[in-house]
Amino acid sequence: MAGPYDYLSRENRDIPLGSFVYVPLGAQTIIGVVWGESSKNFLDEKRLKCIESILDTPPLPESVRTFVDWVAEYNLCPPGSVLRMTMSAPKALQPPKPRIALIMNQDAPEIRMTPARQRVLSLLADGPPRTASDLANEAGVGSGVVRGLAEAKVLKRIQIPTSGLFPLPDPQIPGADLSPAQKAAANAIIEKVRKQSFEVFLLDGVTGSGKTEVYFEAIAETLRQGMQALVLLPEIALSTQWLNRFEERFGVLPAQWHSELSQANRKRIWRGIIDSKVNVVVGARSALFLPFDRIGLIVVDEEHEGSFKQTDGVAYNARDMAVVRARLEKCPAILATATPSLETFVNVGRSRYERLHLPERHRGAALPEVEVVDLRRDRPERQSWISPPLKLGLAANLAAEEQSLLFLNRRGYAPLTLCRSCGHRLQCPNCSAWLVEHRFASRLDCHHCGFTMRYPETCPECEAQGTMAACGPGVERLVEEVSVFLPEARIGLMTSDTIRGPGSAADLVSRVQNHEIDVLVGTQLVAKGHHFPLLTLVGIVDADLGLNGGDLRAAERTYQILHQVSGRAGRAERPGRVLLQTYQPEHPVMRALAEGDRDNFLSEEARLREAGVWPPFGRLAALILSGRAAEKVEATARSLARVAPNNPAIRVLGPAPAPLSIMRGRHRWRLLVKTTRSVNIQNILREWLAQVKIPSSVRLKVDIDPYSFL
Ligand code: ADP
Ligand code: ZN
Repeated sequence: MAGPYDYLSRENRDIPLGSFVYVPLGAQTIIGVVWGESSKNFLDEKRLKCIESILDTPPLPESVRTFVDWVAEYNLCPPGSVLRMTMSAPKALQPPKPRIALIMNQDAPEIRMTPARQRVLSLLADGPPRTASDLANEAGVGSGVVRGLAEAKVLKRIQIPTSGLFPLPDPQIPGADLSPAQKAAANAIIEKVRKQSFEVFLLDGVTGSGKTEVYFEAIAETLRQGMQALVLLPEIALSTQWLNRFEERFGVLPAQWHSELSQANRKRIWRGIIDSKVNVVVGARSALFLPFDRIGLIVVDEEHEGSFKQTDGVAYNARDMAVVRARLEKCPAILATATPSLETFVNVGRSRYERLHLPERHRGAALPEVEVVDLRRDRPERQSWISPPLKLGLAANLAAEEQSLLFLNRRGYAPLTLCRSCGHRLQCPNCSAWLVEHRFASRLDCHHCGFTMRYPETCPECEAQGTMAACGPGVERLVEEVSVFLPEARIGLMTSDTIRGPGSAADLVSRVQNHEIDVLVGTQLVAKGHHFPLLTLVGIVDADLGLNGGDLRAAERTYQILHQVSGRAGRAERPGRVLLQTYQPEHPVMRALAEGDRDNFLSEEARLREAGVWPPFGRLAALILSGRAAEKVEATARSLARVAPNNPAIRVLGPAPAPLSIMRGRHRWRLLVKTTRSVNIQNILREWLAQVKIPSSVRLKVDIDPYSFL
């Protein structure tokens, strides 16, 4: 694992640890961070290169550096690639460009006055200096007017401080009147915020129970203490409603951090954080690596969400690393959810985390009634997926002018397309996966590599005309089905193909809120915290979908997502109803949903995992080998397996071709390492992997605590 490089400091100057510095590397000059004093003994210091200069950015705080080392060590990746995640706004490190503002010139010459010029001057008469463009905007005049005044020497140019100003959230704006349970929860967290001591809280309450209100109180206290707060949300692009509520509560929007941010904003916010001028950040998992200096609270909302696990690049779980960061920073962490992950549930059982329970919905809104539809009895018609009882429910809801939601976690029109004449199936040329038809765009896509092609008119194999047929449903096909049996219904579609950013998400959400949509069809995107008062029926089209495939977390995840989707029904005065279509009504997931018995389900899951020594009762790591040449990948996988550790506390499963055996043209093999909890799996892996030379044409990826087994 590549560690830090050694450099000399000129004239033996003491450079503070964490300083950002320019250093030579090969033929280039790059930015690095001073990580520590070298422990090596250099016989010939002359061969070391010198640090060229120090940037004026404040040093990376010690707690951040410790965190970087910790994450690298735990996830078995080079510290440099973790550090790069903390330096995710390279422009913010460059010296800022001077900013020029305009003020009134004391001895201004006489000029001809116009109303536009007058507006500019009166604006400046009782206000701070402003840049030319701000001045023109605020005065409502063209930029030529401002330029003219400057050229006529009525205004003069001065230099002003560069970093953006951040309006500060105001913790004194009163929040909601909390219920006794909400208040108790808020107080427990606030106490730890005041003491600045580490504690992990599971904020456990059904959707609508006021978890957000409770952690807003904790954020308010953090601000009163002069500390910074970080909130991680799984889908930051879809959180318009969350942002609106934050603004209502605190007067201004928080800083937002996600992949769609412009370079300019990225730079402004990063700099604002390290300069301690930003005090609340809401972001995607990458926000965890921002250079906070005085972090006083970390919130992970919807902690059970699988999207907190990153698999590209550095593989890490942001939920777990958030807890680590809170521990290093000595501050409380809040994990909020209605459906705790098994890891968190077990940590509460072990008294490592403290559970704060919000037992009911605000104003006692009832939880929806969940009815199981047994598809073996209530069969949908041929080539359709909505059973008679669900059709009746949808029709009745439309007649009552209430809204319905149909949930199917499958994008596109159909997951498989085949030729009725020769049986040929349309497969991705780069992946071992079927192509998914997107009929609204008349194309077929691979959801793994992005390959796309137009819908073929003839079978690519036997060249028969018009024989290609769709197999199985995706959300687009449901839209079609609903529009046939409820022709007057206004239908909305919510999937990542139709929702491309915060703008279009907000637009669809407001159309649902304004009752411009009767039936909303969607993938997991609809499960996310929206609040639609008129939505009273949720139809789960294929409750069994996530249970196939033998994934360790299949049952847990299916329960979570179906529970979340169900929670969209009946959030206000009107009671909600959920119809859950399944071929396995006796499955523990369906029973738990129908009976509303989450904890029993989790306890049973925990028992099964414990019996099999699966996480969180054992440790797991995946080794994924990939490369263009199938034989090389296989041979490397086998040579790794040959020197696998021989120890009763360690089991190595595989090597075997991955279920997704070819992706983006690369052949993939997997090994799974399973140990008891007492074993340090990182050390085992380090020793083991050091024994095998991986050929340069084969890539080895280590995934600690894997979530995907594909
Ligand atoms: P959760 O985060 O658990 O889903 P929210 O905090 O979003 O719950 O609360 C659901 C709804 O109830 C929101 O509209 C919220 O403003 C409202 N609410 C919750 N608690 C209170 C309270 N104590 N007083 C007023 N409104 C509340
Ligand atoms: Zn593909």
